[in-house]
Amino acid sequence: MLRLYIIPIAGIIKSTMTTRPKKPFIPAEQHDTLRHQIIALLERETLSARDISGEVRITEKEVLVHLEHVRTATHGKGLHLIITPAVCRKCGFRFKKRERLNKPGKCPVCQGEQIEPPLFAIG
Ligand SMILES: [Zn+2]
Repeated sequence: MLRLYIIPIAGIIKSTMTTRPKKPFIPAEQHDTLRHQIIALLERETLSARDISGEVRITEKEVLVHLEHVRTATHGKGLHLIITPAVCRKCGFRFKKRERLNKPGKCPVCQGEQIEPPLFAIG
């Protein structure tokens, strides 16, 4: 009986692990605390991914993974992740239609690479 039980569970664990190979491994508990810290920060201030990474001491890449989750998780609670679009410092082009949260590498208008990163807030 027991043996029959264990095998399918192990199968499930293995399949969930193999379907998400790209996300950085963060223990579940730490993950939650960090996300709450990020939400609390963004309810008070408008910050870039770099600012957040300095505050909670994780990489910008990890911040962006959290922000993606915050974007979907806050939806049903009447809260929204408010994104101030990235801006080209050279020509002032605003990346309004951009869906991705990371900083764009290049301006599509003037090809400038001096991009002001997007800013995030929760409201
Ligand atoms: Zn530009």
